[in-house]
Amino acid sequence: VDTSDEISDLAQTINTMAQKLEKVEQERHHLEQVRNDFLANVSHELRTPLTAIQGFLEALQDGLVEEEEARQKYYAVMYTETMQVNRLVDDLMDLMKLENNEVNLVKFPVDVADVMNRVAFSFHQEAEEKGLHMGVEVEDELPRIYADKDRIAQILKNLVKNALKFTSAGEIRMRASLDGEYVQIQVIDTGMGIAADDLDRIWERFFKVDRGRSKNNKGTGLGLAIVKELVELHDGKCRVESSPGKGSTFTIWLPRIKPEN
Ligand code: ADP
Repeated sequence: VDTSDEISDLAQTINTMAQKLEKVEQERHHLEQVRNDFLANVSHELRTPLTAIQGFLEALQDGLVEEEEARQKYYAVMYTETMQVNRLVDDLMDLMKLENNEVNLVKFPVDVADVMNRVAFSFHQEAEEKGLHMGVEVEDELPRIYADKDRIAQILKNLVKNALKFTSAGEIRMRASLDGEYVQIQVIDTGMGIAADDLDRIWERFFKVDRGRSKNNKGTGLGLAIVKELVELHDGKCRVESSPGKGSTFTIWLPRIKPEN
C-alpha cells in the first residue's frame, strides 16, 4: 500500500468532514437568526398594545382624566388594545400548531358555495357600513371539496377581512369555479393593492406592507401565513395578483372530489 495515497485519502476525508461541519454551523446560525427574528416580532407586536394600555391606565390612575366622556373613551381604547393582544396570542398559537403538524383536519365533503355565503353574511354589515358592495358568484354544478369546513371558513374569513380592511370604495367579490382537478376560489377587491416588491412577502408571518404608514393596520401580520398553512394542509395552493391603486385578487385552489366511476 502506498502511504502517500492513504495520506491523501485521509486528507480528503478530513476536508469533507470540515465542510459538512461548516454547513451544519451555518444552518444552526440561520435557525438562531429565524428564532431571534421571531421573538423580536412577537415582542414588538405585544409591546405596541401593551404600551398603549399602560399609558391610558396610568393617566386614569393619576386622576388626569376628569371628564367622564373622556374616561369612557380611554376604557374603549384599552378594551380594543386588549382584544388585539388576545387576537395575536390566538393567531400565534394557531400558526404554531399548524407549523408543527399538530392540527387534525376533520374532513367531509364540503359545498364551497355554502361556506362562501355564510362568510359573506357574517361580514355584510361591516361591508355595508363602509359602503362596499359584497358579492358571491358560484359556477353551476360546482363539485364539492373534501375538507375541514371550519378551516375553509377561516381561510375565507381571513381573506375577506383583509379585503375589507384595505378597500375604501367599490366592491369585494368571492368567486368559485372549476379549474381542472381543483375548485378555484377567489376573493377580489377594489382596494389599495400591493406593490410588486411586496407580493412574495405577504405570506410571511408578521409581514405587513409599510409598517410605518399603516399605523391603523390593526392586523397581526399572521393572517395570510395561517391561510397558506391551511391551504397546503388541504393539498391546495394559493396565489395573489395585485395592481396598486386598483385592487387585489387572492386565489386558492383546493382539490375537487372526483366523480364516482
Ligand atoms: P394582517 O393581520 O396585517 O392583515 P396578513 O398576513 O393577513 O396580516 O396580511 C399581511 C399584509 O398583506 C397586510 O398587513 C397588508 O399589508 C397586505 N394585504 C393583505 N391583504 C391585502 C389586500 N386585500 N389588499 C391590500 N393589502 C393586503
